[in-house]
Amino acid sequence: MLRPAVSSDNTRRSVSGLTHVAAVIGDPVRHSLSPTVFNAAFYAAEMDWVYLAFPVPEGSGAQAARMVRTFDIRGMSVTMPHKESVIPAMDELTPVAQRLNAVNCIANADGRLIGHNTDGAGFLASVRDCGFEPTGARCVVLGAGGAARAVILALAEAGAASVAVHNRDPGRGRIAVTLAGEGAVLVADDALVDAVSSADLVVNATPVGMSSGDGSALPEDALHSELFVADLIYHPSETPLLAAAERVGARHCNGAGMLMHQAAEAFRIITGRAAPVDAMAEAMTAALAKRAEEGPQG
Ligand code: NAD
Repeated sequence: MLRPAVSSDNTRRSVSGLTHVAAVIGDPVRHSLSPTVFNAAFYAAEMDWVYLAFPVPEGSGAQAARMVRTFDIRGMSVTMPHKESVIPAMDELTPVAQRLNAVNCIANADGRLIGHNTDGAGFLASVRDCGFEPTGARCVVLGAGGAARAVILALAEAGAASVAVHNRDPGRGRIAVTLAGEGAVLVADDALVDAVSSADLVVNATPVGMSSGDGSALPEDALHSELFVADLIYHPSETPLLAAAERVGARHCNGAGMLMHQAAEAFRIITGRAAPVDAMAEAMTAALAKRAEEGPQG
């Protein structure tokens, strides 16, 4: 067994030449919660691994991904703006990463770089954690960006009864809808309230609600008590949409669970071991609480 931690916060072991390295690349990346969450996981699982954040400027994603092989980095998370640009450096993509044309986790399988996307699996695990089962559900997704696309594909693959997509730019929305196959429709502005009134699940995958001046991503009178409302935003922890869901008696969750579960899935992919989910959730909750104390810009 490894020797106890040397750090004051009990999340870091001593590092040696034998220590395995994992990392995240992005720009910006210094405020990423991933190092906190993964290092807590390695500590809890008694693994001689360390997880670092590398700021990599736009345009250098593929080059940084190739360095995974050079430096024998065991796995690398990928965040904005590199999720698409690392793809040419991959030896293989999972079917989900291929459909989404986006990679958020690179596994180094003895020098072969395999591009995964764990956002959709993280989303499904987070709503299931809250007692909502997406199979057979009528779903409305707001947004058509990277997060929305991962959610749309995951809902379709989980056997949702229908997936309706609303986006302020219908052209981008139409492309996202194709991910969900035949049961999917694009919802026009004037049909949104009706679509939500007959839905079981509504997902906010837009940034509306992140900034303090934002209103709710949906009018409150569109919500009803039979609805499950998932907002992918995790900071702030309660968006105007979630406050409205609470008022109408709808079950709801914010994006912290998705963030944690996509990281847990990445941990399993990178290390080949079950993720210490409780330790990861505890580390994320503490980090988000600290960020909340620092205010909206934290
Ligand atoms: P993106 O930029 O790829 O897409 C944003 C989408 O929101 C686009 O469809 C855009 O048209 C729409 N949009 C933007 N501003 C809008 C506005 N004012 N009104 C209506 N629609 C608007 O971003 P993304 O990476 O898909 O992220 C979307 C949200 O999901 C962000 O809030 C992000 O923090 C969150 N997110 C959470 C997780 C998680 O793990 N919880 C993961 C990824 C993204």
